Amino acid sequence: MNDVEVIVAGAGVIGLAIARTVARGGRDVMVLEAADAFGTVTSSRNSEVIHAGIYYPRGSLKARLCVGGREPLYEYCESHGVPHRRCGKLIVATSPDQVGELEKIKAAAAANGVILEQLTALQAHAMEPQVRCTGALFSPATGIIDSHAYMLSLLGEAERHGATLVCNSVVTGARLEGDGVLVSVNGGETQVRARLLINSAGLGAPALAAAIDGFPKAFVPRGYLAKGSYFTLAGRSPFSRLVYPVPEPGGLGVHLTLDLAGRARFGPDVQWVERVDYAVDPGRAERFYGEVRKYWPALPDGALEPAYSGIRPKLSGPGAASADFRIEGAAAHGVAAVINLFGIESPGLTASLAIADEVNAIASTALA
Ligand SMILES: Cc1cc2nc3c(=O)[nH]c(=O)nc-3n(C[C@H](O)[C@H](O)[C@H](O)COP(=O)(O)OP(=O)(O)OC[C@H]3O[C@@H](n4cnc5c(N)ncnc54)[C@H](O)[C@@H]3O)c2cc1C
Repeated sequence: MNDVEVIVAGAGVIGLAIARTVARGGRDVMVLEAADAFGTVTSSRNSEVIHAGIYYPRGSLKARLCVGGREPLYEYCESHGVPHRRCGKLIVATSPDQVGELEKIKAAAAANGVILEQLTALQAHAMEPQVRCTGALFSPATGIIDSHAYMLSLLGEAERHGATLVCNSVVTGARLEGDGVLVSVNGGETQVRARLLINSAGLGAPALAAAIDGFPKAFVPRGYLAKGSYFTLAGRSPFSRLVYPVPEPGGLGVHLTLDLAGRARFGPDVQWVERVDYAVDPGRAERFYGEVRKYWPALPDGALEPAYSGIRPKLSGPGAASADFRIEGAAAHGVAAVINLFGIESPGLTASLAIADEVNAIASTALA
């Protein structure tokens, strides 16, 4: 039996950011990770975009934590040598009826405090000569980040402040006990007592919350899985900025992002699935060609290669409006020893430092 002040379940970008912030506050932190390394799940299966905070409903956690987390993330990258680039992004309308959508997007962004520049088709073409559109918006605050280097840096800092990461450790259950929680690892092989369990298990967060004996089930949401597949572009990218169509239900549309080496990839699309399976179906490329050619007609035949996929941890199913992040401590569910993070889909990477601050505030109250 070990004792620790705080257990963080899950070493994705969110768990690592939380561990860093909480450990910097002088708390004794242990991170338990099911896989054999940190950041191997959703945190390494995304677009690596630092989002401006454009699309999220005003007043939502997504809006507040994305806008509040973005500049601290840029500053973190600068001060910690994490590769990144504030490259900007174009949002393009590809038919005259979509121009009205751009106005709505611009207004929604402004409500979140995000400034977008309105561009004519000619101005957009001057920025990205390969793009065909009827009008566009430019987001100067959008950028890209090396998410693995970022996670490595967070882990390093957490460890320098005394946190420990233990891999191959699945949190299989827990029991509320006294003013803390007894956590079972790998089916009870090890038990660790903690004052506070922070559940940042990503896709596994609802199952983990459901496995806490004594935790009210009414506060365990149903999770849905929305897979997003990516295809890479063979050869050099003809674009230097990110290019997004207007959003589609469930995701942001088949957009073009760049990695820091300048390679282009398209995706992610939206495919509702029942179980986690990261295989990319080459047959999905057909739809990608159609979608991408709406804004890049010169996409050559055969240029798209299946790349990778990620799965969004959704809290609402097909056809329903996208749900907000849920970050819940005692004020929400009445249990001081547990903080749950549910539905941390995009923009979780961008918001990671702000999410960590939010959780740290709840943790400070719980541990006071
Ligand atoms: C397709 C896609 C594209 C995205 N693009 C972007 C983007 O461009 N910009 C952006 O800001 N965000 C983006 N996101 C969102 C971002 O990737 C996520 O918000 C973020 O990675 C979530 O991190 P996490 O730590 O919560 O989850 P994860 O990275 O999944 O980490 C959770 C960890 O918990 C572990 N775990 C699970 N169950 C247990 C258990 N019982 N015990 C112990 N460990 C457990 C897992 O092994 C995993 O390592 C995207 C997401 C997807 C799916």
